[in-house]
Amino acid sequence: MPVVSPTLSNLTGGGSDGWEVFMRARQMIAAGTPVLELTIGEHDIRTDPSILAAMDKAARGGHTGYAMVPGIVKLREAVARRVTERTGVPTSVENVMITPGGQAALFASHLATCPHGSKALYIDPYYATYPGTLRGVGAVAAPVPAHAENGFQPRASDIDAAATGASSLLINSPNNPTGVIYTRETLEDIAEVCKKRDLWLISDEVYDTQIWQGEHISPRSLPDMAERTLVIGSMSKSHAMTGSRVGWIVGPANIIAHISNLATHTTYGVAGFIQDAALFALEQGTALEDKVGAPFARRRELTVAILNKQNHIRMIPADGAMYVMLDIRETGLSGEDFANQLLDTHHIAVMPGESFGAAAAGHIRVAMTIADDAYVEALQTLCDFAAELCE
Ligand code: PLP
Repeated sequence: MPVVSPTLSNLTGGGSDGWEVFMRARQMIAAGTPVLELTIGEHDIRTDPSILAAMDKAARGGHTGYAMVPGIVKLREAVARRVTERTGVPTSVENVMITPGGQAALFASHLATCPHGSKALYIDPYYATYPGTLRGVGAVAAPVPAHAENGFQPRASDIDAAATGASSLLINSPNNPTGVIYTRETLEDIAEVCKKRDLWLISDEVYDTQIWQGEHISPRSLPDMAERTLVIGSMSKSHAMTGSRVGWIVGPANIIAHISNLATHTTYGVAGFIQDAALFALEQGTALEDKVGAPFARRRELTVAILNKQNHIRMIPADGAMYVMLDIRETGLSGEDFANQLLDTHHIAVMPGESFGAAAAGHIRVAMTIADDAYVEALQTLCDFAAELCE
């Protein structure tokens, strides 16, 4: 029998994909056991009816044929305007490529920047798909740890030490899984290493509208970085449009042209009526973004209030995104053991830190994605469970 290409059969690196606790929770639910799921990064609200109305109008109005491969001009213009306004970097249509979500943007960006066999750096802890995405383009996925002791801010010296043979560095701020926002100092240091080691910087900014504390800085706005930075954006998190599959890449015009050529040979673009809906959503400005983000801002406050009443679990300051990372090392358990025991004994599912890389060992990630009252109950139970373990 012909064999599957190793590019795909080795995509997950042969090890665990980190989703075991999640899968077990889903099996328990299927068998009739109710489980409170604080696992995946998906809103508990659906896409706003006004966006759906725009989608319906566009589809019924006939925007159902092939759309322009790099994206419809009006949406590319809207993204360019948004980026210019929010970062101060002059950005126009030829700097923007519309993609089927941020995930496809990550893949295309790495295919465009990493020659086969070169090293693609990424920061650990990381969003679960990163290593597979980098392997998928034929690069050698190389993690650079960001340590808990350093507030999960990456250090330029660690990146520099790993940079020999590397073509690119992938960063993500606001960060999934830690909820940390990289400081200006961190980003300036990263920019200096990228320039010194001639690296492309791929900056995953899909949580850029969910800022609870501090400031989000796009590294593309730092001196001489626009020419070597590709920014990944998405409507998934900002507008609760995860299923619509619409995102973008912002970068230098010449590389965007190549990525558009890739899309001609892969996705053939994004459905026109989805792009019209995304355009409508962006035209609503921050009002819709704030509405979508509000439940997470609220639950973050609830989290702080609950955690302030105990002293066994330490909360990594959740500056942004829809997650909180909790340091449970005082319990003596690994993140994995803690998550498994919590699921078995209290029917609450969280993600082990280890699912997001070695640097997050001894931590758990809590997604703030269930209704407030259930969320409070789950978090309180989790804290009580940790306290019992520490007795
Ligand atoms: N990047 C990060 C950090 C994410 O957390 C996610 C989804 O959870 C994505 C990218 C991909 O999002 P999408 O493909 O829905 O835009």
